[in-house]
Amino acid sequence: MKRAVFLDRDGTINAMVYNPEFGVVDSPQNPDEVRLLPGVGEAICAINQAGFLAVVVSNQPGIAKGKCTPAVLEAITEKMRQGLAERGARLDAVYYCLHHPEAAVPHYRAVCDCRKPKPGLLLRAAGDLGIDLGTSFLVGDGITDLLAGMEAGVTTLFLSPRKCYICDELVRQQVDPGFIVPDLLSAARLISGTAAQGSPTCPVDASVGRGRAGSGCPGAEGMS
Ligand SMILES: [Mg+2]
Ligand SMILES: [Zn+2]
Repeated sequence: MKRAVFLDRDGTINAMVYNPEFGVVDSPQNPDEVRLLPGVGEAICAINQAGFLAVVVSNQPGIAKGKCTPAVLEAITEKMRQGLAERGARLDAVYYCLHHPEAAVPHYRAVCDCRKPKPGLLLRAAGDLGIDLGTSFLVGDGITDLLAGMEAGVTTLFLSPRKCYICDELVRQQVDPGFIVPDLLSAARLISGTAAQGSPTCPVDASVGRGRAGSGCPGAEGMS
């Protein structure tokens, strides 16, 4: 049996994108909007080297809502994979839920078992790839990620800035993440440390630490 680190996509691997027209942040709507978050390449490389499968599990209702086409989603995924490959990192699989209960496109209108907070994407990946969920992890920045992970029986890591704006909601929904970490690189270090598989030799992401709170402390982050 293999172990996996399940990864949310938007807000975990790539940055959310500000839409000035609506004044809100959303997922990237085309490949040009795909920006990997700082340290993500190094993080996923460390996950690869620690012997875990890196598996994206993400709700992508854009096609269902008529905002996106399958070809565009494919191009966005390809851009993400490419950016990671340039940083020595590999995704072993990408699982999307394309459904939405109120989809404009009838083909995708469904109350499915794979839209997070349901655990279907993780369960399907586990079946396809031979993953032992009990020794696997999920990293995400949303409550629905954590709920899906808890339901699937993996250890959950919640990505959260220092001021946790939804921590009250975590309590209200009785969501108790295994760990709370500031970013994916911290998550990967924690997971690969737990796995004790030796030290990864991943290219250091020079963009990490710049503009990060607390990064002014010499040696605080091992910035070599
Ligand atoms: Mg997210
Ligand atoms: Zn679904």
